[in-house]
Amino acid sequence: MDLIDGRYKQSGIDLLDIVERYGSPLYLYDSALMISQFKKMKSSFSVQNLKIHFAAKALTNISVLKIFRNLGAGLDAVSIQEVKLALEAGFNPGDILFTPNSVSVKELEKAVSYGVKINIDNIDILEYFGHTHPEFPICIRINPHILAGGNSNISVGHIDSKFGISIHQLPLVRRIISTLKMNIEGIHMHTGSDILDIDVFMQAADILFNVARDFDNLSYIDFGSGFKVKYKPDDYETDINDFGLEMSNKFNAFCKEYGKDLTLIFEPGKFLVSESGLFLVKTNTIKQTTSTIFACIDSGFNHLIRPMFYNAYHDITNISNIGGRPKIYTVVGYICETDTFGWNRKLSEVRPGDILVFKNAGAYGFTMSSNYNSRYRPAEVLIHNGNDYLIRKRETFEDLLKNQLILSSELDDIK
Ligand SMILES: *Cc1c(COP(=O)(O)O)cnc(C)c1O
Repeated sequence: MDLIDGRYKQSGIDLLDIVERYGSPLYLYDSALMISQFKKMKSSFSVQNLKIHFAAKALTNISVLKIFRNLGAGLDAVSIQEVKLALEAGFNPGDILFTPNSVSVKELEKAVSYGVKINIDNIDILEYFGHTHPEFPICIRINPHILAGGNSNISVGHIDSKFGISIHQLPLVRRIISTLKMNIEGIHMHTGSDILDIDVFMQAADILFNVARDFDNLSYIDFGSGFKVKYKPDDYETDINDFGLEMSNKFNAFCKEYGKDLTLIFEPGKFLVSESGLFLVKTNTIKQTTSTIFACIDSGFNHLIRPMFYNAYHDITNISNIGGRPKIYTVVGYICETDTFGWNRKLSEVRPGDILVFKNAGAYGFTMSSNYNSRYRPAEVLIHNGNDYLIRKRETFEDLLKNQLILSSELDDIK
């Protein structure tokens, strides 16, 4: 987002004009930023075989999935519905890694029938698979139990986490695999923690390499994600160049020892799309109390839940009163529950009707939205090559009624 001649623009597209045309609230994505993040990540590694899987759950709009497919990315899917969306977007089944947790055997069978890669994170399921599809190549998700940082709702590497097969259960895993003659093609970890310290991540990587030594038929090692982006100007972000260099050295050394050029896989969501997205809202009203000035907007945690769920910080700017006298606002939503987007934010004076922009709204914004309070989910617009395209319509009242089967005379006995 740039301020040019007194107007805020994204890749040359005027933001107030966009809201005028598509209404608010609105998710706006810029393909240029997704593409540059992808290329930046790709060029940071120097290994024979690198595969970047886009973590679909961050932003599942089919047009966005197609951007990553065209860039040559693979896809990380965590539900069979995401697998289906990826196939719909044109991904080859072999480029999709299905990493479910707590799903039924039926859902796994569906994944087998689609021919996608499958990542198993449960010993019961591993045994089931060994009995039913011993020949089907699978990946095993390991929990290395380190990297506990970040938000406790996001971090999944701790000892009592439901994710992955504990590193301490590996002897059992090895027994099952050799007894049932299973074909293990990949090893995976995803701790959900931000990569703040490269050395700490390398420790986890060493653990995974150690695990890999026990399997002699691997074709890839997947290190998950954890790439951090800036939400505030002074935030730490993962230094992708330093990380890529260290990781490549380690990986190349391991491949030499292993005697085979394995594929190095990462599966970022946030890193690829967070900064590409803006969330635009309109101010409904201003409410001054004895202690606080609230800017009340036409949205709530039904559209962007990260501030309330993860205590996440999203930068907020008033783009329709540039040069207005700055004041301190608490920005809140219209949901009948506490839904504060930001406490005590300094914004140029906010008036009813003013348009506010939330930054870093590309990842886990729309995909975590709901119809709570019977509100419609927003529209999504993509900027690509200087044009803007509506890629998801705003919901309407019909959408709220769509799957309801309405009883009428059956309820007449109620007096
Ligand atoms: C959510 C998820 C990711 C992506 O995480 P980001 O923090 O968005 O990069 C990658 N792999 C798996 C298995 C996930 O569940």
